[in-house]
Amino acid sequence: MAICPFAEWVPAPDWKHGYPSGDMLRPQGAVLHSAEGDNQASKDVLLGPIMSSWQFYICRDGTILQHMDSLRVAWHTKTRFGRINKTFWGIEAEGIAGEPLTDAQVESSIRLIRWLWAEHGLWEFSRQTLREHNEFTATACPSGRIPWDVLVPRLNEEQEVDLGWLWEVMEWLHDMVDQQKWADILWLLPELGLVHN
Ligand SMILES: [Zn+2]
Repeated sequence: MAICPFAEWVPAPDWKHGYPSGDMLRPQGAVLHSAEGDNQASKDVLLGPIMSSWQFYICRDGTILQHMDSLRVAWHTKTRFGRINKTFWGIEAEGIAGEPLTDAQVESSIRLIRWLWAEHGLWEFSRQTLREHNEFTATACPSGRIPWDVLVPRLNEEQEVDLGWLWEVMEWLHDMVDQQKWADILWLLPELGLVHN
């Protein structure tokens, strides 16, 4: 269960999630959608009687909205037995067909996906874990709006940077242990968030 710390919390009506069989146990990735309209139109759908909902919405200016806890099942991709909704998050992007994601939307998508993956123990950023709505149901959505050639490499690139940083820290710690510089290590651990002061 998680609420994204950098998303705006705009709760969906409480009845608009889950199945009688419950909510998400083990998320496997996200389905990307085109909202086919602006934020206000989407909010009307979300708050209205249509049986449609999604966990996240990314505005043209990059603002991220979260509408329910990350482990609640949203109704964004209609398949038999809710197979996809039970295992994939739904991320909507403001805008319509023919309108590529804005740079701000691309940056926010990367930030949100990385947070979701880290929070729920996923590690693979690929077209196996990041899908389009039209791969599951007869729809044009997301109408070619997702820049996959940018998104997937960027997600993986930043992960490599993080691993490089981790490697440097580990080498430094190894040196400090060799030299028995315990005070330096004790100073660094809280800085890294590994222990609390
Ligand atoms: Zn869709």
